Amino acid sequence: MDDIDLAAERIEVLNASALQAVLGRTETVPSTGICASCSESIEQERLKANPYAKHCRDCADEAEAQAKMARRCGPR
Ligand SMILES: [Zn+2]
Repeated sequence: MDDIDLAAERIEVLNASALQAVLGRTETVPSTGICASCSESIEQERLKANPYAKHCRDCADEAEAQAKMARRCGPR
């Protein structure tokens, strides 16, 4: 299970493309700074790490959790 922790750090780097794929969004324009799901402002730290972030931390975490599930169980 420790492997997953290490992998998570790498996934963080890939979030820009991975999350957009998960959320069905492929835009490459920089983020507006407003979450597309809940209209909350996206954390500055998050935008610094991922200028294309379309979702706040909460919504992105949710999408990431779903992506992890999908990877484990496979698409159904
Ligand atoms: Zn949100």
